[in-house]
Amino acid sequence: MKIAILSRKASLYSTRRLVEVGRERGHEVQVVDTLRCYMNITPHRPEIHYKGEHLTGFDAVIPRIGASITFYGTAVVRQFEMMGVFSVNESVAISRARDKLRSLQLLARRGIGLPVTGYAHSPDDVQDLIEMVGGAPLVIKLLEGTQGIGVVLAETRKAAESVIEAFMGLKANILVQEFIKEARGMDIRCFVVGGKVIAAMKRQAQEGEFRSNLHRGGTAAQIKITPEERSTAVRAAQVMGLNVAGVDILRSNHGPVVMEVNSSPGLEGIEAATGKDVAGAIIEFIEREAKPNHTKTRGKG
Ligand code: ADP
Repeated sequence: MKIAILSRKASLYSTRRLVEVGRERGHEVQVVDTLRCYMNITPHRPEIHYKGEHLTGFDAVIPRIGASITFYGTAVVRQFEMMGVFSVNESVAISRARDKLRSLQLLARRGIGLPVTGYAHSPDDVQDLIEMVGGAPLVIKLLEGTQGIGVVLAETRKAAESVIEAFMGLKANILVQEFIKEARGMDIRCFVVGGKVIAAMKRQAQEGEFRSNLHRGGTAAQIKITPEERSTAVRAAQVMGLNVAGVDILRSNHGPVVMEVNSSPGLEGIEAATGKDVAGAIIEFIEREAKPNHTKTRGKG
């Protein structure tokens, strides 16, 4: 098969692993820099050009779209879909996952466990918003944040008010969330491929920190998840419409709660912590599923 990996850099671990495994399994694999793709939007024979070359003959595309280029990146994926190329994750699903509020609303609608979460626009509504999510302590998150930056634990109501007002004053989009204290700084990343959890790791925050992000000094190890956690992760990916997803879960007193569903989950941490061949699972999924015009939406938005 001929597979394109949409990625900003061929040297990134996840990209390198997908290239390596794809080639080992006999495929032709090309890394395509998402931001160097340009396209003609036309009803007949939509095309993608890349550094002067016409990209043709691809059976599948693996989108690895960073949060900062979601807008352009999903347009490129959509163009591949319009050309009838199978995309591991469809453009609509990637856009959905990148909108945190929309994602949480979709998951809630399907009865998936979530931390109680609130959202408001006006500083006038902050008091009631804090009530709505059950009061302090609570977690305040910048919607645009990644790697734990912009995630703040407010231990008292006063602290919560100040932080929320400060963020609102800066015109930042935030959400407030019940603090899952009983998780004790541990979260679980479930890596879902084709409706199955193929690897799971726990991330433990360092002493004195509640955020378990590896970038914040957290440590990762393999974990055996419960059947309920497994089905929560699989259902969350399915609700989002993602074939490949990193589902982040906290162990709460009221069962597993989903924090986030990631549409371009990294391979480095999970492969190192679990020893599983995650890249291999993604390539095998493509081998099973990729047929011409097998992308359900064909670029519908
Ligand atoms: P990011 O997307 O920036 O990583 P997250 O929402 O995943 O932000 O939060 C970062 C970390 O903070 C999580 O991995 C988790 O350990 C911790 N955390 C986030 N939300 C909560 C919460 N509601 N209760 C307890 N811990 C939380």
